Amino acid sequence: MIYFDFNSTTPVLPEVLEEIIPFFTDSFGNASSAHKMGKAAQKAIENAREQVASLIGAEPNEIIFTSGATESNQTILRMFECDKESSLLISSVEHPSILKIIEKWSKNRFHLIPVNTSGIVSIEKIQESSAKGLCSVIWGNNETGVISPIDEISEWAKEHNLFFHTDAVQAVGKIPVNVKDFPIDYLSLSSHKIYGPKGIGALYIREGAPFKPLIIGSQENSLRGGTENVPLIVGFGKAAELAQKDLTVRSKRVKELRDKLEHGVLREIEDTSVNGGDVERLPNTTNIHFSGVDGDTLVSLLSQKNIAISTSSACNSSAITPSHVLLAMGKSYEEAGEAVRFSLSHLTSESDLEKVIETLKESVHLLRN
Ligand code: PMP
Repeated sequence: MIYFDFNSTTPVLPEVLEEIIPFFTDSFGNASSAHKMGKAAQKAIENAREQVASLIGAEPNEIIFTSGATESNQTILRMFECDKESSLLISSVEHPSILKIIEKWSKNRFHLIPVNTSGIVSIEKIQESSAKGLCSVIWGNNETGVISPIDEISEWAKEHNLFFHTDAVQAVGKIPVNVKDFPIDYLSLSSHKIYGPKGIGALYIREGAPFKPLIIGSQENSLRGGTENVPLIVGFGKAAELAQKDLTVRSKRVKELRDKLEHGVLREIEDTSVNGGDVERLPNTTNIHFSGVDGDTLVSLLSQKNIAISTSSACNSSAITPSHVLLAMGKSYEEAGEAVRFSLSHLTSESDLEKVIETLKESVHLLRN
């Protein structure tokens, strides 16, 4: 399969897998055990905590491991939800792991911040808001790759006594992310987007920022209960170490490939455009509009030809709703349904890229006629 869906998930790198395996077999100790095997497991966790902290410029004691970024995001949102005085400021282009939970809240508990037609969160609308408590804005959008002005928003939040959380899942490992550059109180990240295993993530909690655990227990310094998944934590740590070491090389390589794909598609296929293409984006992502072509049908057709790409339409039994991100950018239902996301990797080959452009050309032609 030619895989152009790296924002959904990435493969585990061989170096990462190699580090993980002994923790399933020989070194299977419970990190809470008092004996040598327990201590070895705890040591491995602390090593991984340092690796993950280092990737985002945090201190190890500011990192807790979670089951993934969904849990990290929801831990912070639930904490502020419990504070009845809080009303949250949340961008309209957040990941569903954030938007799904506020759906159930009463409307006076949150303000949705609109984005402009390029997908950039409106700083003016943020400034008009009277929210108290928390402001949460995604760093790099998973569907379009559009990068939010985290500097301005986090500064504004600080000046207005709001805590600031960012979902940096897609930004981490693709662009420099350093929690000390801006006034960031909380940040979510995930292992399986940076060539580590699935089911493990982390939450950065700035030293001194308020925190209430979502899952109660004595592990993780009593900040997140449940026996630690040592193999996955170790894998996440290794993936973080490699992501930090190779960030510049990976980003440069993948941007060249993404730009080549974009230029090829726009040149070879008429009536195409890039959603959010006029602003700063993650180097690996492009969201392309194919006028007159149903995105889901294009995804299925390419899948039959062994090419993996995606749309972000949410299906339920009775209807397909196009991407909330594209709708928030002012696209019509029809336009939003005609977009497809390609997310590449530094591992992507030139020949796969050529094959995708060629196959797209044929498929779009077929679907338009
Ligand atoms: N936020 C963003 C922006 C994401 O892309 C994802 C993964 N699709 C998540 C949160 C959820 O991460 P996880 O799979 O680790 O729960």
